[in-house]
Amino acid sequence: MPFELPDLPYAYDALEPTIDEATMRVHHDAHHKAYVDNANAALAGTEWENRPVFEILGDIEIIPETIRAAVRNNLGGHSNHSLFWMSMSPDGGGAPGGDLAAAINDSIGSFDELKKAMNEGGVKRFGSGWTWLVWDGTGLAVYSTPNQDSPIMQSDVPLLGIDVWEHAYYLKYQNKRPAYLEAWWNVVDWPEVERRYAEATTD
Ligand code: MN
Repeated sequence: MPFELPDLPYAYDALEPTIDEATMRVHHDAHHKAYVDNANAALAGTEWENRPVFEILGDIEIIPETIRAAVRNNLGGHSNHSLFWMSMSPDGGGAPGGDLAAAINDSIGSFDELKKAMNEGGVKRFGSGWTWLVWDGTGLAVYSTPNQDSPIMQSDVPLLGIDVWEHAYYLKYQNKRPAYLEAWWNVVDWPEVERRYAEATTD
């Protein structure tokens, strides 16, 4: 099968108390796995089944209409979650550093402003979706997307995304999405986000 569920880079309970073990198990083993399985099923036997994720999501209009919604939702889900697990760490938290910190200060004002903007985007997203920090080719931008839509679909590079689907937080935070978003920053893996920023801005 072309797409595979990646292992978590830490134990299921490693992000406690911010993200509880039960949420991590069902989120990774059931939700993410379903996106992988459904993406593979939708693309099986087509000319796109062995293409890299970014090529397909970056040109979603070329996918036949009969499978486009399934690919958009499930390959988007696979891509978003693969990035999400790597964006968190048991040693996470704190503030960004290096070139990324300078870029955030220049274009957004400060880390506090970034956090505020991303949290607000996540709180205001009606239903399910993601709140993002992206590189748009010329600078940083903050916005949210519905469902499993990826910034790759609009040719942006996702640097950091927070999952605001209820499945990401409901067991521990119930209806309190703002409390989940506030706590989430305790596990953000800044060195990984800084690495993505360097990769996006050098070539
Ligand atoms: Mn999710």
